[in-house]
Amino acid sequence: MPTLGNPTNTIAVLQKYNFNFQKKYGQNFLIDTHILEKIIKESAITKDDLVLEIGPGIGTMTQYLAENAREVVAVEIDKNLIPILRDTLSAYDNVTVLNEDILKVNISKIAEEKNQGKPIKVVANLPYYITTPIIMGLFESHVPLDSITIMVQKEVADRMQVGPGTKDYGALSLAVQYYAKPEIVANVPPNCFMPKPKVGSAVIKLSRYENPPVSVKKEAFLFALIRASFNQRRKTLVNGLANAGLGITKEQITEALEKMNLSPSVRGEALTLEQFAELSNILYL
Ligand code: SAM
Repeated sequence: MPTLGNPTNTIAVLQKYNFNFQKKYGQNFLIDTHILEKIIKESAITKDDLVLEIGPGIGTMTQYLAENAREVVAVEIDKNLIPILRDTLSAYDNVTVLNEDILKVNISKIAEEKNQGKPIKVVANLPYYITTPIIMGLFESHVPLDSITIMVQKEVADRMQVGPGTKDYGALSLAVQYYAKPEIVANVPPNCFMPKPKVGSAVIKLSRYENPPVSVKKEAFLFALIRASFNQRRKTLVNGLANAGLGITKEQITEALEKMNLSPSVRGEALTLEQFAELSNILYL
């Protein structure tokens, strides 16, 4: 049975080890058992699964994961948490804690060694200062992935889920939706954490597509196009892309938009993923 996940036991562990929160590592520990149970349910972990946890903190969610998964690999950057994790996870023999920076870990190698290269599940209450690099790193490095179930800032969860025509729509929405089906499964208020974050949070599940919903000649070119379109958000697509150093001229872009029945003054934020894919296939030579 998990022993953590409520304020009393969390405070007891923090006091026992005289632990000081490090702001720079985005440390907000979960103290709500309902949210922990919800995350476990939505991530659909079974005893067949290898789970990668990013940032176990004092091991609260790790205990829940260890109960439900076959094996858990938890990557924690803060060396002061390692002795605490040794203690709070001592009842579990299916957890490996790595004292590393997740952005420098070779996750494919872990999947290869511990899961015979089969898709793994990622579950985490993410450190918010590196949410986007973590997600993009997981997708772009082509780690074998089944799903990613993560706590993120509410606003970032919204950005991953929306389509064109909203202010939150951008490069992150398109990148996530190219690789996975996003679904917000819970909204989580600040009082579920210790210390309380300044912003609201949400749990979002990203279920990896076997094949992306659109097909492109060159993935890297699609993403270069998307990034360039949103870097210059207020410019029309024609001006934004012509100045982006991609080697495409205004004439080529205007011609491509015409072929797609789009106005020459259209902005990137109006295009769907399908339209970006079509544009990239026309412009990629
Ligand atoms: N999972 C715990 C929980 O839910 O109570 C802690 C979540 S806390 C929001 C984020 C955790 O990520 C912290 O323990 C922090 O030290 C760790 N962390 C921050 N940056 C990291 C990085 N680059 N690599 C690995 N862990 C990191």
